[in-house]
Amino acid sequence: MPNPDQERWSRVKERLRTVVGENVFSSWFARMELESSEGDTIKLSVPTRFLKSWVQSHYAEKLLECWQSEQSTVGRIELTVRSAVIRTLPPKVKPVETLPVRSEFRDTRGFGEPRMPSTPISAVHEALGGSPLDPRLTFDSFVVGRSNTLAHAAAKQVSQAHAGDAVMFNPLYIHAGVGLGKTHLLQSIAWAGNAGAERKVLYLTAERFMYSFVSALRTQNALVFKDTLRTIDVLVIDDLQFLQGKSTQQEFCHTLNALIDAGRQVVIAADRPPSDLETLDERVRSRLAGGLVVEMGVLGEELRLEILKARVAAAKHHHPGFDVPLQVLGFIAKIVTHNGRDLEGALNRLLANSKLNGQPITLEMAEREVRDLIRPQEPRRVKIEEIQRIVARQYNVSRADLLSSRRTANVVRPRQVAMYLGKTLTLRSLPEIGRRFGGRDHTTVLHAVRKIEHLVGNDNALAEEIETLKRQLQE
Ligand code: ADP
Ligand code: MG
Repeated sequence: MPNPDQERWSRVKERLRTVVGENVFSSWFARMELESSEGDTIKLSVPTRFLKSWVQSHYAEKLLECWQSEQSTVGRIELTVRSAVIRTLPPKVKPVETLPVRSEFRDTRGFGEPRMPSTPISAVHEALGGSPLDPRLTFDSFVVGRSNTLAHAAAKQVSQAHAGDAVMFNPLYIHAGVGLGKTHLLQSIAWAGNAGAERKVLYLTAERFMYSFVSALRTQNALVFKDTLRTIDVLVIDDLQFLQGKSTQQEFCHTLNALIDAGRQVVIAADRPPSDLETLDERVRSRLAGGLVVEMGVLGEELRLEILKARVAAAKHHHPGFDVPLQVLGFIAKIVTHNGRDLEGALNRLLANSKLNGQPITLEMAEREVRDLIRPQEPRRVKIEEIQRIVARQYNVSRADLLSSRRTANVVRPRQVAMYLGKTLTLRSLPEIGRRFGGRDHTTVLHAVRKIEHLVGNDNALAEEIETLKRQLQE
C-alpha cells in the first residue's frame, strides 16, 4: 500500500542521491531501509555494522538535512543493523517496489530493470562483504566501441576463466575519466563471474575495502578479514584512487601480493594510471603496472549513439509507449559529450517528460530539456612528458637537457617554464614533478614555479609565450 512514510523516504533518498552523487549513494545508501518514524525520530536500518558506522561518521548530517528538507519536524535519525540472517538469504520482494506509477520514478536512472531486490547472485556476493551490485551493469548492456574494445575483451576474458586456469594478466588495471564505464565493466565481471558456483568474485570499492579493514581492526577481526579476502578467486576493486591511510594501503599491498602469488585474479579500476597514484607506495605502483594496464578513452559520438539506442530499447520493456526518433538520439549523441552519466540523464528527462505530459518526443523538446547538459569538453589530461616535449621544441633544446643537471641559462629558463606548466596544468605534486625532472628536489620545483609566476607578472613577452604553450598543450 502506498504509505506516506515510505514515500517520504523515497524522496529523501532522491535528495541524497543528488547531494552525494550516484557512486557514494550506491555504495552506502542503496541498502538502507526505513524501519519506523515515531515523533521526531526516524529509524533506519542497514545490513552491516560497518555500513552503520561509516554512514554515522561520514553522512549523519547530510542524512538529517535531507530528511529535514522533506519533513522539518524531524530531529533525530537512528541507525540500526538489520539481523544478520537477512544477509545470507535472498531478500524477499517488497510489495512497495511493485507500485506501478511511483516506482517508475523512484530511481532517477529510470532505465533497464526496475530496481529489483537482490538476486541470489548478489545475495551471496553481499554475504561475502562485497559492495552492492547494480543489476543493470552487465556485459549484456555494455556497448563496445573503439575506446573500450581492449578493456572489454580483457574483462570478458577474466570473467570467463575457470578455477585453476593460468591467469593471463594480473592484475588487470583499467583506468579512465569519470563516467566512461569503469564501474559498469567491473560489475559485469562480478555478475558474470559469480553466475557459476565455481569461483568467488568479490567486487569492492576502495572505500569499502578501507572501511572493512579498519572496522575489522577495531573489532579485532583483522585475521578473519584477511582470511576471507584470500579465499576469493577474483578480487575486483573499484576507484582505487580513493584508497587512503598507511595501514590500509599496507594491507591492500599484502592482499594484492598474496592473491597474485597464489594465482588468483585481481582487477582494478581507477581514474588514473598506476604511475600517477601518488599516495601509493612505489612497490605497489610497480606491482599494479606489472599486469595489463588498459586505458578507456572518451566515448566517441558513434559509441554514444549506440549506448543511447541500447538504453531506449531497454526502457521500452518497461515503458512500451516510449519512443525516441533517431534524429533526437543523434542530436543528444552529438551535443552531450561529457560522459555516460549525462547521456543517461538526458534520456531520463525525455522519459519523464513524455510520461508526465503524454507528448511525443520531438527535437524541440530535446533541445529544451538537455540544454544544461551541454558542457564544454573536459580539459584534456596533460602529461608531464608532453609538457617537456613541447617546451623543449619551443626553446630549441632537447628533452634530455631539461632533465639534465646542466645549469646554463639557455636550459635553466625552459626547465623552469616546464616545471611551472607541470604544476599549473597537471595535478602532480611538487615532489612528483621533481622526480620527473631528473630526480630534483621539490624545493627546486617550488623555486621554479615562484620564479616564473613572478616573471609572468612583469614580462609580457614571457606571459604570451606561456599562454601559447598552454594552448598547444590543451588542444
Ligand atoms: P565510471 O565508473 O567510469 O565513472 P560508469 O561505469 O559508472 O563510469 O558509467 C557511467 C554511466 O555510463 C553508467 O550508467 C554506464 O552504464 C554508462 N556507460 C558507460 N560506458 C558504457 C558502455 N560502453 N556501454 C553502456 N553503458 C555505458
Ligand atoms: Mg565508477
